[in-house]
Amino acid sequence: MSTDKKTNDSALTAQEQTMRRPVQIAGVTIQPRDASEDAALPPVAAAPAPAPVPVEGQRCGLVAIVGKPNVGKSTLLNALVGQKISITSRKAQTTRHRITGIRTQGAAQYVFVDTPGFQTIHGTALNKSLNKTVVGAVSDVDLVLFVVEAGSFTTADAKVLALLKPGIPVLLVANKLDNVHRRGDIAPWLQSMQERHAFTEFVPMSAKQPKDIVRLLDICEKYLPEQPWWHAEDELTDRSEKFLASEMVREKLFRLTGDELPYTSTVVIDKFEEEAGRTAKRMLRIAATIVVEREGHKAMVIGDKGEKLKRIGTETRVELEKLLDAKVFIELWVKVRSGWADDEARVRSFGYE
Ligand code: GDP
Ligand code: MG
Repeated sequence: MSTDKKTNDSALTAQEQTMRRPVQIAGVTIQPRDASEDAALPPVAAAPAPAPVPVEGQRCGLVAIVGKPNVGKSTLLNALVGQKISITSRKAQTTRHRITGIRTQGAAQYVFVDTPGFQTIHGTALNKSLNKTVVGAVSDVDLVLFVVEAGSFTTADAKVLALLKPGIPVLLVANKLDNVHRRGDIAPWLQSMQERHAFTEFVPMSAKQPKDIVRLLDICEKYLPEQPWWHAEDELTDRSEKFLASEMVREKLFRLTGDELPYTSTVVIDKFEEEAGRTAKRMLRIAATIVVEREGHKAMVIGDKGEKLKRIGTETRVELEKLLDAKVFIELWVKVRSGWADDEARVRSFGYE
């Protein structure tokens, strides 16, 4: 390595050096941040292929990313997961936790979950979201990343913070550090934050800085319980695209049917195949079944002359093509969960183009 850390440090002001040392405030360690001069360092060499991790050594847990709008939660999630995956504007929550991303690295599997209410609160809607559902959703995760803009703490931040239950470790992620020009202001601000909540650690960082993401993952690892992974190690490759496809159909389904359709309706992906394309672009063939509870619901999803179903398919296709950077053919079916109708009553809507 040509760049020696020590040499680098000596070029810094005393104040900057202080910021690189772990700081103890009321028994809590503030993790030092690598200086912004990191950009000048040579790129980190690619790690050699890791050996398989034995089940005994594995860690796995749920991590929630919370914070008021615009602090950088989505940016952070995408960087932590390492792939564009978070889908916005959902209205339905059929499961307690919706997985928004998985990252498996070394012995650790981080399962990032959506926390209904926390992600979607906007301005005046903040108060409305102060309810049990919201609090409940974040009360059984292993770790909470509470994201704020470094150096700032507003009423909106306070409202989100007030929703957090005691007993779960919360890291203060002071994001957008690159926007803070007077770095000396950060230490006193962190101290004031310590008075607001018993954060277990403070992580001043920038979600747009890859080194910070690596560091944040490291910091989070110890909070994951030692237990076997829940998901396959590569679950973010093909299967996550499949997951995205089903989420996308669901999102369009609920958006286009309004509130009439019960949230118990589900989407099953029957086929997700990549075709050897004649062109440079990837080609995906997807078949999905929307499973509803009653005939009436089926009619609602299909719509007049199949219009509604066709629109669900078209809108899903358009967005998936952008998201997956591929040409997508999607085929949708609607099926009533139980009863006589079953397969015969499937309605096809073929090959949107
Ligand atoms: P969310 O509403 O909390 O999900 O916030 P987003 O992830 O959508 O980010 C809001 C804005 O902040 C976007 O314009 C991001 O590009 C920007 N942003 C996120 N992280 C950083 C960061 O570390 N530094 C800077 N300068 N901008 C950031
Ligand atoms: Mg967001």
